[in-house]
Amino acid sequence: MIETLHVEIGHGRPACSMDVLTLGQVRIVRIADIDRIEWPATALFGALTADDLRAAAGAVPAGTVDADAATLLLSFNTYLIQTPDFTALIDAGIGNGKERPDRPAWHRRDGPFLDLLDGLGIRPDAVDIVVNTHLHADHVGWNTVLGDAGWQPTFARARYVAPRAEFDHWNRLQQAEPSTLVLHGAFADSVLPLREADCLELVDPTFEIAPGLRFEPAAGHSPGMCVVRLTVGAASVLFTADVLHHPLQFARRDLVSNFCADAQMARATRDRLLEENAGTGTILAPYHFPSPAFGRLERDAAGLRFVPQPMSSAAA
Ligand SMILES: [Zn+2]
Repeated sequence: MIETLHVEIGHGRPACSMDVLTLGQVRIVRIADIDRIEWPATALFGALTADDLRAAAGAVPAGTVDADAATLLLSFNTYLIQTPDFTALIDAGIGNGKERPDRPAWHRRDGPFLDLLDGLGIRPDAVDIVVNTHLHADHVGWNTVLGDAGWQPTFARARYVAPRAEFDHWNRLQQAEPSTLVLHGAFADSVLPLREADCLELVDPTFEIAPGLRFEPAAGHSPGMCVVRLTVGAASVLFTADVLHHPLQFARRDLVSNFCADAQMARATRDRLLEENAGTGTILAPYHFPSPAFGRLERDAAGLRFVPQPMSSAAA
C-alpha cells in the first residue's frame, strides 16, 4: 500500500508531500531534498535529441518530460526506512549550507529536510544507519551539518555505511591533489568528517548492512556504486541509486548520463539489474524520479514497462 502523506513542517514553509510505502511493520518514506526540479535535458543526457524527447514524452509518467522546453523533471530522494529493529536513511541528498558554486541548484541551500524528518517524528539522533550508495555530491550532503567545530555528522548516533571501492577511488584523488575540490567539495565537507568522527564503515559490495538490508554491486555510474535491497518477508524493495536517472531510460536503456564514469559499464549494470528484477514483483525506489517513484517492472511484448505503485492519499 502506498500513500501520499502531506507533512506540515512549520517555520513558514509550505507543506510537502512524500510517498509512503508500508510493508507490514515496515514503513518506507520518500523524502525529497529537492523535489520536482526542471533540468535541461541535455545537461543530464548529452546524447538526447529533440526527436528523442518528443518520443519519450508519451511513454513516461505525465509531466516528467517537457519536450517543448527540453527539460526533464527530477527529484533528489532520500528514502527513510523504519522497521521494528532499525531506522535507516538510503542516501543523503544535497544538504544545507554547502559551497557548490559550480552547481547553482546545490549552492548554499536552506532546505527543510531535517524539518521533514522531524514532522515524521524522526529526530537526528533516532537514525541508526545512513547508507551512501555512492559518494557524488547529491547523495552525501546531509551526512554532515555545520557545527561550531566545522562539518560534523548530522546523525550523531548513526553508523554511516559506504562501498569501500567508492571511498578508495575518491580518496586517492583527494590525496593526490589536496587542494582540489573533489566531488565539488563534497568529499571534504560531507565524507571526510565522518572518517574523523570514526563513524564511517567501508564495506564490500554484497555487505549485509542490517538484517534484511543488503548492498548489491552496481558500479559504472561511479567506480564503486552499490544499490540496496530491503527484504521484508516475501517483498523486496530495490533502492536503485543512479542506475537510472529518469523514467525515460526504461525505453532508452542505452542513454547514459553525462555524470557516468564508465558509460559501457553503466549500461551493462542497468541492463542486468532491470532484467534481473523485471516481472519479479520487486518494487523499485529510484533516487532521481519525482513522485510516483515507487513502481514495479513488468515485461510485455514491447519490452520492459515501469508500473508506478497505486497511490492513495492521506494527510498526516
Ligand atoms: Zn545522483
